[in-house]
Formats: sequence, structure tokens, C-alpha cells
Amino acid sequence: MKDRPTLALLKRIVLLLWSAELWLRRALSRGWRRRYWDLLGECRACGCCCVEPSIHADPLTWHLPIVRWLLYRWQCQVNGMELQGQEDRSHDLIFLCTHYDPVSKRCDSYTTRPGMCRDYPRVLLGQPWPELFETCGYRVRARKSERLRAGIEATSLSPEAKAELRRKLRLD
Ligand code: SF4
Ligand code: SF4
Repeated sequence: MKDRPTLALLKRIVLLLWSAELWLRRALSRGWRRRYWDLLGECRACGCCCVEPSIHADPLTWHLPIVRWLLYRWQCQVNGMELQGQEDRSHDLIFLCTHYDPVSKRCDSYTTRPGMCRDYPRVLLGQPWPELFETCGYRVRARKSERLRAGIEATSLSPEAKAELRRKLRLD
């Protein structure tokens, strides 16, 4: 269901705060400075990342029931998401989004979508091996991989084998 004007305003205010906090956290975090991947391409609006959006819970949120409950309430009341399940190993919470239309593959409140939707798939860049959806228009490329690329070029492999190796290692 499309956001009401008051809800849209609240989401815009929260988005400003969220974006500032994210920028600061990434600027300060060693993990972000050490990221291994660049992001290339663009969104093709395939809708895959809207089917079951997930949120990675930090340790506080994962272990404290009251914090998790607050997160659920916020996601439900403000962002229109309903909890579907959780991944115990990765501490990911899986939602269904009521703004997503599976037929048109569109978001009915795209201009007021939450920060987590705007940040996808950049949020994956800190992972050792980011997994994107097959239909996603984005792709990742290994950073600072010039020496590895030069090493592959220097081998006696066929051009096809070199290209395959670069593809598998995400060097192109
Ligand atoms: S709010 Fe919109 S962009 Fe975000 S998951 Fe739902 S449908 Fe997708
Ligand atoms: S999976 Fe990728 S291409 Fe598809 S909607 Fe999400 S960001 Fe866009």
C-alpha cells in the first residue's frame, strides 16, 4: 500500500539521519576502507532484491529481544515489511515487503523507500565474496587487482582460458 503523506515525511526525515550515520560509519570503519570490491553496472529493475529483503542484525539487535521487537515494529509500521524468518548462522532477518508488486515488479512507494533499499547492493561490498542475484544489473570487480591481471596475462594460457580465469576471479 502506497505511503500516506505523513508516513512519507517521517521516512524522509529518518532517511536523512540514516544516510548521515551510514556515511560517517563507513568513513570511520576500517572494514569499509578495506573493502575488496568495486561496484559496476546499474539497476535493471528486475525486482529480485525486493522479493525477500533482509536485514543483517548487529549483535545487540540479535541477542536483545526488546531491540529486535522494536526493529520488527518499525519495519512493520513504518516500512511496510513483515517478518518471514531468520538465518541463525548469518544473523539475517528476512522480510516480505508490502510495497512490492510481484506482477509489475515495482515498488509502490519508490521515492520514499527506506535506506536499506537504496543501499543495495553497495551493502554487500564489505563481504569477502558478494553474491548478487543472477538478473541483477550490477556486478562486482576486485579492487587493486592489476598485478593479478598482469600475472594471468603473463601465463601461457589461451586467451579464452585467461578470460575465463579473469571472469571467475571477478577481475574484469
Ligand atoms: S520498499 Fe520498495 S524498494 Fe524497498 S523492498 Fe519494498 S518494494 Fe523494494
Ligand atoms: S537485484 Fe539488482 S537489478 Fe534487480 S532490482 Fe535489485 S538492484 Fe536492481
